[in-house]
Amino acid sequence: MTTDQANASPAVDSPAADPDCIFCRIVRDDLPSRRVFEDDDMIAFHDIRPIAAVHFLIIPRLHVVSLAHCGEAHAPLLGRMLSKASTLAREQGLADGFRTIINTGRGGGQEVYHLHIHIVGGPRPLGAMLPREV
Ligand code: 5GP
Ligand code: ZN
Repeated sequence: MTTDQANASPAVDSPAADPDCIFCRIVRDDLPSRRVFEDDDMIAFHDIRPIAAVHFLIIPRLHVVSLAHCGEAHAPLLGRMLSKASTLAREQGLADGFRTIINTGRGGGQEVYHLHIHIVGGPRPLGAMLPREV
């Protein structure tokens, strides 16, 4: 999927899986990943290019393109994913705090068009969220 297609028409309905999607392949175990958690709804695995000492991703098993493609119907799933983010962050040693990031669409810097929550943190506080433009 191109970025333009991904941004084109957010809709509640997505195909359950996209054969070309790298994260769908990880869900299927077609591509290896270092999993930290899985259940019927979601899987969590370490990011291949970590930006902090701890950096893992939580993704739905279903191919949901982005947060912009979510509607009311996704609210229970999103709630479960966020709740699990907190539990897993603690389990991964981030008792002092962590950052959750959901990059959405071209403007949000999304690279993989399968909804995912980044959980990042480490021994040192992360500091400011983004460099200020002014
Ligand atoms: P985005 O920029 O879309 O929010 O983040 C995508 C993330 O997926 C990036 O941090 C990138 O390192 C990670 N990623 C991309 N491909 C793979 C992969 O094949 N395996 C794993 N574990 N992470 C990946
Ligand atoms: Zn997918």
